[in-house]
Amino acid sequence: MSRPIPVARRLSKAWLRGACVPYTARRAFSAQVTGSRTTDITALKVNQDRLMETLHQTCSWGTGKRWGSGPNDTGMSRLALSDTDKQARDWFVETTSSLGCHVKVDAMGNIFAVRPGRREGLATFAGSHLDTQPSGGRYDGILGILAGVEMLKTLKDHQAETEFPVGVVNWTNEEGARFPISMCSSGVWAGDIPLETAYNLREVGGGTATMRSELERIGYLGSIPASHKSTPMAAHFELHIEQGPLLEAEKQKIGVVHGVQAYRWFMVDVSGRDAHTGSTPLGKRADAMLLAARLITHSHRLATKHSAVASTGILSLTPGSTNTIPGHVRFTLDVRAPADSTVEAIEADLKRDFAALAAGENIQGLLDGATPSLPLEVSWRTDSVSPATLFHPDCIAAVRASAEAVTGDKSLVRDMTSGAGHDTVYASRHCPASMIFVPSKNGVSHNPEEYTSPEDCALGAQVLMQSVLRFDSMRASS
Ligand SMILES: [Zn+2]
Repeated sequence: MSRPIPVARRLSKAWLRGACVPYTARRAFSAQVTGSRTTDITALKVNQDRLMETLHQTCSWGTGKRWGSGPNDTGMSRLALSDTDKQARDWFVETTSSLGCHVKVDAMGNIFAVRPGRREGLATFAGSHLDTQPSGGRYDGILGILAGVEMLKTLKDHQAETEFPVGVVNWTNEEGARFPISMCSSGVWAGDIPLETAYNLREVGGGTATMRSELERIGYLGSIPASHKSTPMAAHFELHIEQGPLLEAEKQKIGVVHGVQAYRWFMVDVSGRDAHTGSTPLGKRADAMLLAARLITHSHRLATKHSAVASTGILSLTPGSTNTIPGHVRFTLDVRAPADSTVEAIEADLKRDFAALAAGENIQGLLDGATPSLPLEVSWRTDSVSPATLFHPDCIAAVRASAEAVTGDKSLVRDMTSGAGHDTVYASRHCPASMIFVPSKNGVSHNPEEYTSPEDCALGAQVLMQSVLRFDSMRASS
């Protein structure tokens, strides 16, 4: 048995290779550090076969729909706090304990597995979630946890010591599929969602179970408070599948995630006048549906102009009869962009142009070739405002430096903003945080056919481990 290797000491200067280092620090780095020291961090390699074998083994708890003939060609249906979620949790607790971690469960069933470091202090965490959508895949959330466990195994293989503790956290009910608030338990930890609100969430589909009753039933109602005050973290890194098409389309391997985009949800009411479809000439109509169609088209054009996205997911009209021109339409509008200011600018443009279109003004040729109609009215309600989340520059730098070191090719690494929410959003409110994305085949997620190649999973796991180690060594050297 060889002596433990103090990883942090070996890496403390290597971290300075990160992108945000002032010139003087870089000079100091090149003067003091020999090439051999930087190879130490790359000497720690995750085991791809072990990672994938373990990932697929754990997917036997909550296996979902079959979509192909291969042994792993099934999706996942592991709803939060179900019996199969309990099996996956039990495995997580047993495995991390056997790898030398202290395991704590909080009042929301969040599981924190912490591997001691050379010194006392807060742990740097890799975190994600083991629950899935009812018709989900094998990678969303699961990869992040399994990569964290693989990190612990790799550290143990090499008897490597970190300067401070490192850990893996499994957040409860991230999907919000069974209990309908997503990122629910990291939200409670962050103090943004009241504990009682989460406890009283009833399962969807008319069942009587609540989050609290299910936590109790499966034995994961922990005794420590679910709070960043009781379980503070030094940092939180999350490896996740992209769930979008960009990395694959650009043949890139790692996304360095800078934050999560801002969004606003609106409810738009369009009021015109019900009238007979046969006897009302086009020029005497106040057709709410026709105007709504133009407004939705215009929201798409404005989103294009601002490099944002705008979507309508719900639309209803009345009275709903083939031979009556609808006098009222209500639709939702979901507007998202990386910066709050962009979403605000789109909102201002939309409000101005929607009013003008309702009054009959021809904006960007939307009325070309059409018969002018009677004026209509448009009213708005803002249903939700979610500001942009910007991750921490130190964590982003650690991820970028790791991604470049692991891939050995900057062109394979891409800066990104996440389109979807993740537990890291709540974690980032109370500690430095960032995320790592790996490619999703065809950009597909929340689908049994969700797929990321074993090579890409291992690459992501390698970047995750290096990011955690770089952050740990940065703390040691600061
Ligand atoms: Zn996820």
